[in-house]
Amino acid sequence: MQHFDLLVIGAGSGGVRASRIAASLGAKVAVAEERYLGGTCVNVGCVPKKLFVYASHFSDLFSQSRGYGWSLTDPQLSWQRLRENKDREIARLNGVYGNLLDKAGVTLLEGHARLLGPGRVMIADQEVSAERIIIAVGGWPFVPEFPGREHVIDSNEVFYLDDLPEEIAIVGGGYIAAEFAGIFNGLGVKTHLIYRRELFLRGFDREIREFMAEQMQAKGIELHFNTDVDSITVTDTGARHVALNNGKSLTVGQVMYATGRRPLLDNLGLENTSVSLTDKGTIAVDDGFETAEPGIYAIGDVVGRAELTPVALAEGMALARNLFGEAGQPVNYDLIPTAVFTQPNIATVGLSEELAREKYTDIAVYQSSFKPMQLSLTDSPERCLLKVIVDVASDKVVGCHMAGPDAGEIIQGLAVAMTAGATKSDFDRTIGIHPTLAEEFVTLREPR
Ligand code: FAD
Ligand code: NDP
Repeated sequence: MQHFDLLVIGAGSGGVRASRIAASLGAKVAVAEERYLGGTCVNVGCVPKKLFVYASHFSDLFSQSRGYGWSLTDPQLSWQRLRENKDREIARLNGVYGNLLDKAGVTLLEGHARLLGPGRVMIADQEVSAERIIIAVGGWPFVPEFPGREHVIDSNEVFYLDDLPEEIAIVGGGYIAAEFAGIFNGLGVKTHLIYRRELFLRGFDREIREFMAEQMQAKGIELHFNTDVDSITVTDTGARHVALNNGKSLTVGQVMYATGRRPLLDNLGLENTSVSLTDKGTIAVDDGFETAEPGIYAIGDVVGRAELTPVALAEGMALARNLFGEAGQPVNYDLIPTAVFTQPNIATVGLSEELAREKYTDIAVYQSSFKPMQLSLTDSPERCLLKVIVDVASDKVVGCHMAGPDAGEIIQGLAVAMTAGATKSDFDRTIGIHPTLAEEFVTLREPR
């Protein structure tokens, strides 16, 4: 039986990072993977999603180009070519991940891993033992029970559609629903977004959410808030008839559910260990990512602190260093920047205005909304919105929010400033880069 210092279950964002770092620190490491190298992010998440976002943005660019003097004759999309090119790029990245593991000296064990007990794992039909085990199995799309559930697709299947539907209904109001509403709309599909409460993107700054609802509607996306699906049936032509709980109905080519994800614990053998779950169904870990079973750790989406690739990477790195090297910096969960790749993008770091009001007695809100310069020669109605939230007592910037072009690229830099403890005076004494949209963040003078 092969024995390892560390066995990682799952070669996704967190698992690959943890195994590479551990191997570079001298540990004998294996990683078990049953599906695809790179995990959700590379195969059915961040990467193919962002490629589709780029593809969908061209329709806006084509029409905006006219204002800048260009003439185009009727651009056409080939969904099949887009999908094939995307698949080729993902296959290339799968190879890159294989090489990274190989070069780091990590043994790849292909197949489903099942815990047999502390330190013992069955992978396909091979049993291995390990001093330490990291569970990095990620999550899987969750679709609630309702009549007609079998007629919908989820975020795994959406990446492999044979054809684009003419019309789609997307159910959910989180990251994936908002992003895919923008993707399908930009690719020319008539798009409906159905969300059960009054306003989507719960958890983000309220004004940003309201602003995004307006922007999406202006682009032709139909938002159905305070609405849920009662049932779905398939018509004679193969269309989906969606009965809504407000008495209305829609008939569309596809229905996509984006109603959250759940830890992927199927047949993992947790019952053979003392690993316990939280009431949210995620694996319970302590500050050092150790589960209730000594020697078994968990990181990434399966722990569910923030279901984002950079968080899984940071957890994988911190844990591997703690186990096999010198304890490094703990993961900083306080200021996690994040972006939603809608059109325009949303990006945010720190507290929403609502949370800042709860936490601090006196806050100042600086904000600006305008038509981005790149749209000035176009008839696009798109605008952007920027907000900076300041704790008046300390002058610290406690939240930066943006909806606008390349918001993620801009907020990443502001996240560094906020992590370093920047005050509003620091923002004010920073010289802008002109003419950019980002310079607005350092020229906001009067609070609202
Ligand atoms: P995963 O990447 O899911 O990896 C888990 C791996 O474990 C998988 O490869 C799986 O096959 C394997 N596995 C599971 N069980 C077993 C088993 N028993 N035996 C062997 N192998 C097993 N995050 C961002 O930061 N930015 C984005 O833009 C973004 N976009 C996203 C878009 C979509 C559509 C989705 C679904 C997610 C997106 N995310 C994004 C979230 C991001 O993908 C996850 O947070 C990240 O992949 C979590 O990494 P992980 O290592 O925890 O798990
Ligand atoms: P989210 O948790 O972001 O959103 C789930 C949505 O589904 C919420 O609007 C929720 O409503 C709704 N919902 C949940 N259960 C039901 C139900 N039974 N019926 C109807 N609606 C329901 O999950 P996603 O699936 O969008 O994405 C999963 C995670 O992946 C994200 O949380 C994020 O961490 C990550 N991700 C990150 C991206 C990025 O960084 N750009 C992109 C895509 C995904 P309610 O608000 O009422 O709870």
